Amino acid sequence: MEAAKHGQRTLLVEHGDEVGRKILISGGGRCNFTNLDAGPQNFLSQNPHFCRSALARYRPADFIALVEAHDIPYHEKTLGQLFCDGSARQIVQMLVTEAAAAGVRIEVGCAVESVEKADRFRVHTSRGAFEATALVVATGGLSIPKLGATGMGYRIATHFAVPLIATRPGLVPLLYSAADRPRFAGLSGLSTPAIVRCRGARFSESLLLTHVGLSGPAVLQASSYYQPGDIVDIDLGAGRDVYADLKERRQAGSKALVVSALAAFLPRRLAQVFADLGADGRPLAEQPDSALRAVADAVTGWRLTPEGTAGYEKAEVTCGGVDTAALSSKTMEVAAVPGLHFIGEVVDVTGWLGGYNFQWAWASAFACGQAIGAAGASREAAC
Ligand SMILES: Cc1cc2nc3c(=O)[nH]c(=O)nc-3n(C[C@H](O)[C@H](O)[C@H](O)COP(=O)(O)OP(=O)(O)OC[C@H]3O[C@@H](n4cnc5c(N)ncnc54)[C@H](O)[C@@H]3O)c2cc1C
Repeated sequence: MEAAKHGQRTLLVEHGDEVGRKILISGGGRCNFTNLDAGPQNFLSQNPHFCRSALARYRPADFIALVEAHDIPYHEKTLGQLFCDGSARQIVQMLVTEAAAAGVRIEVGCAVESVEKADRFRVHTSRGAFEATALVVATGGLSIPKLGATGMGYRIATHFAVPLIATRPGLVPLLYSAADRPRFAGLSGLSTPAIVRCRGARFSESLLLTHVGLSGPAVLQASSYYQPGDIVDIDLGAGRDVYADLKERRQAGSKALVVSALAAFLPRRLAQVFADLGADGRPLAEQPDSALRAVADAVTGWRLTPEGTAGYEKAEVTCGGVDTAALSSKTMEVAAVPGLHFIGEVVDVTGWLGGYNFQWAWASAFACGQAIGAAGASREAAC
């Protein structure tokens, strides 16, 4: 769209039967299309500074202005996350309308099979070959193959000797270890606020137990930092001093059970699992200090060693990808291959949960489109 606005003859090639399928399912069908606070601090990358330039030149306010110009009602759900009041389809429709107005030609049901370059790029597709002086690879990552993810972007990178950072699923549920599974699998559906830590990252949001592992925003966020074998630290007290609280109740002579004290902030069935780890069935007033300490430590210091992640089938994003060291942060162009650009999720820039990944997609696309536009009115762009 941005390239076309600058007079470039632009073709968008999509192998699915419609464009923007990930937008359609995003945010539970309401598309969390940006985050008011999006900044470099919300992204993972080998080079945390790479995203700075593009994010500064296309801000959440720019996308919001577009949404407002199309009269799409939206609201802030939490933590700066903006969602459509209605349907994510409104965002896709908005982008298609804008692209059409700029003169973009869209070919759906057209799969890119390979790419080569002589003077110009030659893109071989299921509908024949297209030639262009600029090629923008916006193929996304490996997440949710049933929605069209193919890994084609990485193959194109490899073809042009563009280095890749190893990929892994991000924003993905973590699986219980064999030891934890029998204890927690039956608690599927329970949710509670928690602080989840992994590799120095810390997220205070809600946690959801499923029949195979842990999910919910706090865990999904931490999962993007998780590497196989890591321990994930979980504080189900969400910052409260559970030991001090239990001790206080005991000193007050509480006749309540430990599980009841925990159930003040945990779902009762989850509270029971943790109460059983240290305390017996006697009232709080009769519990020894060691029992209260054991229960409190278990609640606030749950050390999960996941068996792994739920994989690309369940991952919202793919971490890693095209090494930013090969790209210009201003134009997204490969330094060694003039005219070749990578944008969006295929690049080694991964946002937190909360609208950051779309903001990166919009911002990197804008930077790239502007650069292609500036490169000359006679150039033809194939995205
Ligand atoms: C369930 C889910 C919910 C999400 N919710 C949010 C959210 O609310 N907010 C947010 O910010 N992010 C969200 N994300 C992440 C966000 O959707 C992605 O980061 C974003 O879509 C990446 O944009 P992209 O253009 O780089 O890639 P994609 O949106 O993945 O688009 C790539 C396109 O390339 C096409 N393609 C691939 N291979 C070929 C080929 N060989 N030939 C032709 N076409 C090809 C694919 O069909 C696809 O349409 C969500 C992701 C998922 C899976």
